[in-house]
Amino acid sequence: MDFTVIGVDGDDTLWHSEGHFVLTERRFTELLAPWVDAQTVHATLLETERRNLTHFGYGVKGFTLSMVETALQLTEHRIDGRQIREIIGLGKELLAHPVELLDGVADTLEVLSERYRLVLVTKGDLFHQESKVAASGVAERFERIEIVAEKDVVTYARVLARMGVAPAAFCMVGNSVKSDVLPVLEIGGAGVHVPYHVTWALEHAEVELGHPRMAGVAGIREVPDAIAALEAERWAA
Ligand SMILES: [Mg+2]
Repeated sequence: MDFTVIGVDGDDTLWHSEGHFVLTERRFTELLAPWVDAQTVHATLLETERRNLTHFGYGVKGFTLSMVETALQLTEHRIDGRQIREIIGLGKELLAHPVELLDGVADTLEVLSERYRLVLVTKGDLFHQESKVAASGVAERFERIEIVAEKDVVTYARVLARMGVAPAAFCMVGNSVKSDVLPVLEIGGAGVHVPYHVTWALEHAEVELGHPRMAGVAGIREVPDAIAALEAERWAA
């Protein structure tokens, strides 16, 4: 059986995202430099984000609130209102950043859409993700757009049920092994890992090498061949 539906991740798979967060964190660190060193800022912010995920979910708004909370904590509330406003401004800039597709995305989606039904599966702020999808210029390649709170086995099972596709006929493509590949393997689907040059610390996962339904490629242009190779392997098995 060949795949009928290909799932594709958004952030850092179709368009740049994490690189902008890294630059924003650098400016946040400069703002706190009078009080605390860069390493402490990084560690505290990450810990605050981790704690806040259950309150705010993924995305820029939660990240912005985590920066504010981190700043208050690390300055023992000495940071003033103007600087808090600057931090909120950093978050707004991050939200307003134009969508930049990664190299090869438009061509690859065109190739894939000729053979497969495509679904975009992305997590983060609903409003921000909707804006990015609209601005990306590739939305029409997708049969469905799924903006989800978490990418786990429950979410993927729900997406597949909505599309009426069996897990064995589904392959997910994305930059996060933890969010885009492992849960899909767990429900019986396949995954193609396309690494981005930076990975958010909370997305780190051990790459499960040698899984028969997983492939790794260097860039998105290699995805159609990797999917075809996974299909050929299944025929041979
Ligand atoms: Mg991603």
